[in-house]
Amino acid sequence: MKIHFLGTGSIVPTEGRFASGILIEASNIKLLLDCGPGCIEKLRRIGVYPQDLNALLITHFHVDHVSDMLPLIKARAYGRDGFPALPPQMLEILGPKGLEKLVRHLVVDITEFSYISRMMRCFNYLKLTELSHGDKLFRGDWSVEVAEVEHYNGIAYKVVVEDKSIVYSGDTLPDKRLIELARGCDLLIHECSFPHETLIGKHTSDKQLAEILGEVKAKKVAVVHLYPAWEGREETLVEQLSKASRADIHVARDMDIIEL
Ligand SMILES: [Zn+2]
Ligand SMILES: [Zn+2]
Repeated sequence: MKIHFLGTGSIVPTEGRFASGILIEASNIKLLLDCGPGCIEKLRRIGVYPQDLNALLITHFHVDHVSDMLPLIKARAYGRDGFPALPPQMLEILGPKGLEKLVRHLVVDITEFSYISRMMRCFNYLKLTELSHGDKLFRGDWSVEVAEVEHYNGIAYKVVVEDKSIVYSGDTLPDKRLIELARGCDLLIHECSFPHETLIGKHTSDKQLAEILGEVKAKKVAVVHLYPAWEGREETLVEQLSKASRADIHVARDMDIIEL
């Protein structure tokens, strides 16, 4: 199985990092976690098209995590060749409470975008599933468990595919519910937005992440959602986190791959 790190930064682009998106790719399974700006084009670079995705899992509704969702919905109506797909394949989108309201607002209430629901009939091929803390879903070859986290209606996911567990924090303050969800997982993908001395917002710093890793004891760790302050300081970050954890720790850049 491959984990493709499409977007590992923030809304502020740097040479190696931009907004959030992670693809879990196993045999016959392609799950996209978050869909920030640029994700669809980055999927194309690895030969994956909107039509290939089994599901999109959204952690929260900030622009750096969802702004390619609308293009994804529209692109799903087409085939790879650019001709309309009749009928389009179903697209399942999972997300926190409010997902349905957001999608309806975008494709129904906003007059300029409403052709996507009226003419392209997107609700014929959309399945929207709202999730809350403790929810578990089984979808044949993969399953998902959810924990709410402290970040503006945010949720974290534990995805199990081929007996491997991958936990993705989304954006969050350090949160015990996430630690419980992630304990002993094969791969923890956790945000580390800012160095501790400059931490702002509902995010996690290096010092806090070290404490989290000490508790979770994941086998592998990927650090994501890095603001530009981290550019050039990646090795120091790995060294610092390694003092708290024996995990294999990787500070991700866009288009990196981790194999599980
Ligand atoms: Zn956020
Ligand atoms: Zn974010």
